[in-house]
Amino acid sequence: MLSLDEGTTSARAALYGQDGVRTAMESNAFACHYPQQGWVEQDANEIWNAQLDAARRTLAAAGAKPTDIAAIGITNQRETTIVWDRRTGEPVAPAIVWQCRRTADLCESLKSRGASGDVAERTGLVIDAYFSGSKIRWILDHVPDARARARDGELLFGNVDTWLIWKLTGGAAHVTDPSNASRTMLMNLETGEWDEEMLRLFDVPAAMLPRIVGSSGVVGVAQAEHLGAGIPVAGIAGDQQAALFGQACFRPGLSKNTYGTGCFALLHTGSARPVSKNRLLATRAASTNGSAQFAVEGSVFIAGAAVQWLRDQLGIIKTAEESESAAESVSGNGGVYFVPAFTGLGAPYWDMGARGTITGLTRGSSPAHIVRAALESIAYQTRDLVEAMEADSGERLTELRVDGGATANNFLMQFQADILGRRIVRPADIETTALGAAYLAGLATGVWKSAAELESFWRVGRVFEPRISGNEQDTLYAGWKDAVRRARGV
Ligand code: ADP
Repeated sequence: MLSLDEGTTSARAALYGQDGVRTAMESNAFACHYPQQGWVEQDANEIWNAQLDAARRTLAAAGAKPTDIAAIGITNQRETTIVWDRRTGEPVAPAIVWQCRRTADLCESLKSRGASGDVAERTGLVIDAYFSGSKIRWILDHVPDARARARDGELLFGNVDTWLIWKLTGGAAHVTDPSNASRTMLMNLETGEWDEEMLRLFDVPAAMLPRIVGSSGVVGVAQAEHLGAGIPVAGIAGDQQAALFGQACFRPGLSKNTYGTGCFALLHTGSARPVSKNRLLATRAASTNGSAQFAVEGSVFIAGAAVQWLRDQLGIIKTAEESESAAESVSGNGGVYFVPAFTGLGAPYWDMGARGTITGLTRGSSPAHIVRAALESIAYQTRDLVEAMEADSGERLTELRVDGGATANNFLMQFQADILGRRIVRPADIETTALGAAYLAGLATGVWKSAAELESFWRVGRVFEPRISGNEQDTLYAGWKDAVRRARGV
């Protein structure tokens, strides 16, 4: 199985054998542009080239022939919005990345017009610039003739999954899956179809939208010119839903938290559509048999990205890995808290106006305290999500399965166990996003027979047990809550 895992910062490709073990993985980073304050853009052609090259290098690294590949699974950064010309295949604007805030004003005006209730009811989402709907509208409003051309079927919209599949199949397939479509704010969460009311709200013509197909099933064939042979594309899921699947969380009550650029906690709720009273999102989980599967999700915008900021902007660490020893070089937080609200705060606060804040600095505070506070903020934000999830479901999580790049940090994992008072379970393979996409494609093509077979592949890497007292936990968490209030100015 070949998995294409197109993330926010890099495009990765991974190859898996029938035993579910990864045999090769290659990646290419690509550029992110910040043309104005709060704007985030990427180049869709650069993403495609980075992804294709990573796939070719992965085959070469494994010494695999293209005819050895049974199928391709695709997983992707979600919400990021691309509009292109159907005839030439050229994007008409830069890709607007999920983190981009350019449509915050539009979203505020929708909220003040009282649209929140209807949007939540239809889509499961909280009105925010994060989702694709307002981003598509922005492109149609700002590129000359775009709306008329979209109405005439000359322009196509896609998230990155749709774009890559369209490129791979030479324009034969213009499709997406429910896990991605549920993040556009245009899909009716219940029916799994485009919602006419939402299309009207964002003034998006139906003619430009991809067909919504199942997450596991053959949707087209990647042309031989790309990888050397025609290979079926047979799995699609947004990165967080792919990670949920890759963690073998197929049933209600199972959950995972991914620590990458942001943090995303998902709890599987089965065929029951969740309704959050605590400002979490209701979303579609990947499904293998065409039935609707749901999850409740907490999204945090800045997690590992805070570590990148320490490295690239402050320059107080040289590598992300170094944050672990820096944090351990001090015996406690020294009263310092860091709220990395660089792009506002996501769940459960949804405050687009909050900004990054460091509190509790004294004459004795050192760079190590700031590094430690940045790592701790990732764990505190996760506790905020877990508390909201438990309040919603009325059930206590006994343990949390984790994955993503920042889970390599043992200090962070131990602090997470401490501040949650729960066991943290890190699997042997933390690249569960790529694995999930491979699973979906493998089930569709009969390489794997059942969820039970996939469950048997899942292996524990390391378990972190909580070590601090409840009192200590409460005192630390109260300090975080106070820092969040300051970051929000409330
Ligand atoms: P994405 O899929 O969002 O691109 P990854 O899962 O590849 O993200 O994780 C990369 C993120 O994790 C980066 O933001 C990086 O700063 C952070 N990261 C990677 N290694 C470490 C580490 N050892 N300690 C802390 N953060 C880390």
